[in-house]
Amino acid sequence: MTRPPIRFHCVGCGECCRGRHGFMTLTLAETAAWLRRGHRVAVLLEAFPVDGEQSGFHGLQLPVDYGVELRSGAMSMRVAPVFGADLQAGCPNLADDNACRIYDGRPAVCRLYPAPTHPLSVFRTDTRACPPEAWQSPAGVILVEEDGRMPQDVQARVRSFQGELGREAAAKVAICEALGVHLAGWRGNGIVIHTPAVQDFLAAIERSALQVEGAAATSNSWTLRVAGSALAAELLDANAALFAGEGSGEHVFVPVA
Ligand code: SF4
Ligand code: SF4
Repeated sequence: MTRPPIRFHCVGCGECCRGRHGFMTLTLAETAAWLRRGHRVAVLLEAFPVDGEQSGFHGLQLPVDYGVELRSGAMSMRVAPVFGADLQAGCPNLADDNACRIYDGRPAVCRLYPAPTHPLSVFRTDTRACPPEAWQSPAGVILVEEDGRMPQDVQARVRSFQGELGREAAAKVAICEALGVHLAGWRGNGIVIHTPAVQDFLAAIERSALQVEGAAATSNSWTLRVAGSALAAELLDANAALFAGEGSGEHVFVPVA
């Protein structure tokens, strides 16, 4: 069944920026730029099985080599670190007049908006911050074709962004380790969020010289923090190393509801 294409025309209302909270995924270069402006970036970590999600990953088809293979105790697992701009108190680059102070250097996620940042995401206008008039202008560009797909050029930009994140995974793991960060949650159970000091994070990235290609995968053992005794028992059976500390220390554990 075909539907009319969805056209989009930005009306400059600023809702996508004002309403953006939580963490915004950044590439490595974007992370360095964000930190150089003095703003915080968090490291969000969740591990997942080496071969358990080849046919689907949150309903999405991803390459079987997605993320970086690491060890927790004697157990192999994968981790795809997310470096996320900390927008919990709103975006620090949003001016009072709704203008973006770093418009020409804004991150890819902002450039792509309102397109989803995964090529296979199902697009729905009611999940976007844009007002009705943004979808009703005949002058708008097509964002979703009649067959429900995004146009090839938009898909290409999204895939390029995802490809960059994939190529950077090993470099991001190396930077985590340089920061002494090797504690992760478990996909579907909880996320571990670290927020390194801005200068420490920047120094670790600059030491890595933004080396993306050829970044060495770690040989260190990572620790997992999970909620619930059943998963903990399962991971211990697989000889994983589990977090045994009290409290949250220098990280925050966010259980997945
Ligand atoms: S960086 Fe700029 S475009 Fe992106 S959310 Fe912040 S104010 Fe908006
Ligand atoms: S919410 Fe949509 S229409 Fe408003 S500024 Fe952001 S992209 Fe443009």
